[in-house]
Amino acid sequence: MTGRIHSFESFGTVDGPGIRFVTFMQGCPLRCQYCHNPDTWDVNGKCQYEMTPEELFAETIRYRSFIANGGVTVTGGEPLMQASFVREYFRLCAEEGLHTALDTSGIICTPLAFSVLDYTKLVMLDIKTFNAELHPRLTGVEGVNPLRFLDELERRNVPTWIRHVVVPGLTDNEDDVESLARHIANYQSVEKVEVLPYHTMGAYKYQQLGIPYPLEGVEPLNKEKLHRVKEIFATYKPVG
Ligand code: SF4
Repeated sequence: MTGRIHSFESFGTVDGPGIRFVTFMQGCPLRCQYCHNPDTWDVNGKCQYEMTPEELFAETIRYRSFIANGGVTVTGGEPLMQASFVREYFRLCAEEGLHTALDTSGIICTPLAFSVLDYTKLVMLDIKTFNAELHPRLTGVEGVNPLRFLDELERRNVPTWIRHVVVPGLTDNEDDVESLARHIANYQSVEKVEVLPYHTMGAYKYQQLGIPYPLEGVEPLNKEKLHRVKEIFATYKPVG
């Protein structure tokens, strides 16, 4: 079994607790308008590495002393497009006592995808929107329930951080934020919410790939709006 890996980062500090070895998997079924990694979309697209789980683990373990108090994170793209690979990599890491975190959109709800959770200590679940009408326009995919994955996390009692990107004019509607915040308050597994402000740093990648940038002209989120969205979430769950 080989995984198609877009890239990895040896000293990640923003994708889970502590210092982490972060792997970015190739491939994603969504096309979020604000995506800053469009170069990960095509699972068969250009990637930096094709490796077995054992080879990725061998690379990871070189950094063991640095990540001892952090761990490993697998993100993307959508890592569960290569669920068998991630499951085996996490199994190897867990055997060595490394903390395993999965950053996912939760869009793939198959038994195989869920089986990755057997070896996952933390899930960072990127909920795009609670607004069912907006979801297809925002992500390019129809007819999915982004909250089914959260139900599975609750059933298995997997510690979960919710991630929510706030885009001006799309996901900054206070009623939508309130509905999402109120909904996730029901889940014991949700430890906190990370509110991520929309930024334009990925725009150049669209140019490089020769595809139009969907949010051309949309300004980065301002501090006041960010503060307001955080306030709403903080009524129900810790925000950090
Ligand atoms: S799920 Fe993530 S990688 Fe996939 S399109 Fe959305 S933002 Fe991009």
